[in-house]
Amino acid sequence: MPLSSHAVFQAGRRTSLGTRLVALVLGVVALLLLASALAVQLGTRSLVSEIANADLETAERVWVRFYELRGRRLLSAVSVLAEDFGFREAVTADDGSTGLSALLNHAGRVDADLAVLLTPSGEPTVLVPNIGLRELRPALDALLAQPGADRGVIGTVIVDGMAMQLALVPVRAPGLVAWAGFGFAISDEVLRDYSGLTGIDLRLLADGGGVEIASSHEAGDRGLHRIARADRLALAGGEELLLRFELDEARITEPLERLRRRILLLSLAMAVPAALLALMAANGISRPLQRLTELVARIASGDYGSRVEVRGQDEVGRLAQGVAAMQEAIQSREARIEQQALTDGLTGLANRASALRVLAGIGSSGRTEARRLTLLDIRRFSEVNDAFGPEVGDRLLALVAMRLRELCPERLIARLGANEFMLLGASDADLLAELQALNWLSELQAPYEISGASLRLEFCAAWAEYPSQSSNGLELLRRAQLALADAKREGLAICGYRQGSEDRHLRQLRLMADLRQATERTELHLVFQPKVDLRTGRVVHAEALLRWRHPQLGPIGPDEFVPLAERSGLVSGLTRFVLKASLESCLEWQKAGLDLAVAVNLSALDLGDAGLAPRVEAMLAEVGLASTRLILEVTESAIVRDVARAIEQLQRLRELGVRVAVDDFGTGQSSLAQLQRLPTDELKIDKSFVLGLAAGGADAQIVRLAVELGHSLGLQVIAEGVETAAGLAVLRSVGCDIGQGYLFSRPLSSAALVDWTRNFDFSALALPECPSP
Ligand code: C2E
Ligand code: CA
Ligand code: CA
Repeated sequence: MPLSSHAVFQAGRRTSLGTRLVALVLGVVALLLLASALAVQLGTRSLVSEIANADLETAERVWVRFYELRGRRLLSAVSVLAEDFGFREAVTADDGSTGLSALLNHAGRVDADLAVLLTPSGEPTVLVPNIGLRELRPALDALLAQPGADRGVIGTVIVDGMAMQLALVPVRAPGLVAWAGFGFAISDEVLRDYSGLTGIDLRLLADGGGVEIASSHEAGDRGLHRIARADRLALAGGEELLLRFELDEARITEPLERLRRRILLLSLAMAVPAALLALMAANGISRPLQRLTELVARIASGDYGSRVEVRGQDEVGRLAQGVAAMQEAIQSREARIEQQALTDGLTGLANRASALRVLAGIGSSGRTEARRLTLLDIRRFSEVNDAFGPEVGDRLLALVAMRLRELCPERLIARLGANEFMLLGASDADLLAELQALNWLSELQAPYEISGASLRLEFCAAWAEYPSQSSNGLELLRRAQLALADAKREGLAICGYRQGSEDRHLRQLRLMADLRQATERTELHLVFQPKVDLRTGRVVHAEALLRWRHPQLGPIGPDEFVPLAERSGLVSGLTRFVLKASLESCLEWQKAGLDLAVAVNLSALDLGDAGLAPRVEAMLAEVGLASTRLILEVTESAIVRDVARAIEQLQRLRELGVRVAVDDFGTGQSSLAQLQRLPTDELKIDKSFVLGLAAGGADAQIVRLAVELGHSLGLQVIAEGVETAAGLAVLRSVGCDIGQGYLFSRPLSSAALVDWTRNFDFSALALPECPSP
């Protein structure tokens, strides 16, 4: 899977995607609501004025028509009167009462408010009701002067403060005899009729609008908010009246307001489900995303167990599928890596890390199931590798692993090191286990066939048990390893852990660690044990023996700590310290007038140290001591380990004039031939042959042979461990040259040695008869 492609994401604010989505959707819904409310508000406002204008315009047109119709009605009524024969007769005959009754009769028929009779010149003769006759004259003149007036004329006049529509018709018989006229008052009532018809109020105003003549308004509804339109009504005589058409705004706005409220209510009602739908949609996106986010966080923290189920084929669904696929890929890859990390590539067995992990679980969770851990080591495997090459070595290891798996399929088998295997299983009885292990060993040691060759391997096994010998898995391993080390050291094929082994081991570890500082902390010092010439009784040498007083553990013997120094690489430092201190003490003795050589023990490792001889030479020169004053003791076993190297080293030392002694002679199985080639001056017979020395014993024979051998090679022979006078007597009788032992003295401090030497009386010890050899 390519990992190189990379995308950049805008890091979001802290608020979650879900919250933002909900906020966005709710915001959009709110904006839409606001917009529609505004549109309704603005729309109704302009609608009001549009409707009002249209209504007023219509009302005005209706008024014109209404007024015109009324006028026509007047005119036809007056015309009928003017045609009336009786009326004409009466007017012509100037029969006032008949004429008047006909006039009133006709006026009553059309509900006229005014009836008038004029002379042909326009002088009013009759006016019913009889009001404002004089003031009417100019208006009448103006009407009669209108063109076409001789066929009848209609006009508007003011009579007694009231507007009147007046129709005048000539009365002919056949010449013009009079003018007859009827008038309708434009009263509040008329205007109300009109208003009832149109729904528009109308006011009639005179004097440029200052004086109201008539109005359709009921008393008391004058304070309302009105929309108005003005028109003019020409009066006969040139003046004008103002017509005000008025519309109560509420009449339009009220239904609109109701409509608006309904729209708002409806959109508010719609907003709730819209918001709910939006919330659901936002949730539908953000909830699975949130679950995915949690899942990814868990994956990041290494938890691959949790699954998320997001169905659907949309982007979120596909994202979830992607995450799930990624999770599986990571999980399987991790499992593969873990598997590889816990398996030994060569043998397919569990590796060391895996074994340690299993061991860490033992005893940690209160489990007490008994366990036995067995370690198997292939002896001298490096020789196989050297002889046949690493490929063969590897194939052998794989074959061993295969055989192990067949032999004990029920155990955990791991490869801990190059040629070390671990078996972990249930614990059995000790004896049974040992027999079983022996059985395995013989099976494992059966020849291996590789490329036609048949190879044998030698194994070494060791085990420890839980919980009888260890309190947890790691201690179990450590103890099995100690047992394995014991087995190797002691050359055993099988070795179980022995109680106390670990304590010994721990003490050794501690001593090794402490030894490092022991020299600096002056915990180390030397004691000297005299060696006596058995013929003259003179003290000739003193052997330097190292002592360590441990601040907590007390005196530690050289037998214990010198091998530890050898193992931890500290021995050359020790030798240097001993050499220096010994030479200095020897110089002291010389100054005190004693003729003594000092003997210093070398470790086997010193034999391989090429710097030793030059160092010895330098030290002798530094201290100012003749090289003949120094004897170096090397054990026979150290020489036998690498004879050629030992010869070389001893040769170099002898060239300095230093004497060399073979220590612990008789324990190292050196051959006569080797001994002959050794550049040495003295033989020190091991104390094991000397301690129990008595006349006629087996040791006496050995000592005699050793002395003869030494002398035949031209060497001085020394016996150490002289504890008894009887032993001394045997030594003298076989011709041993020098003796060392508790019979003469235990090791002493340098100063004490001087006093002791001065006071030493050999004759007191050597008095008993020398038995003949
Ligand atoms: P070694 O060189 O054989 O030293 C003689 C050991 O025999 C000394 O033990 C000494 O105290 C002991 N011994 C002497 N006379 C008698 C006797 O009559 N009876 C008995 N039972 N023992 C007697 P020590 O001092 O414990 O030394 C033990 C060994 O430690 C030495 O054996 C030597 O191998 C090693 N060692 C001591 N000092 C040094 C040293 O400075 N350097 C090295 N490399 N090894 C040392
Ligand atoms: Ca010695
Ligand atoms: Ca010795």
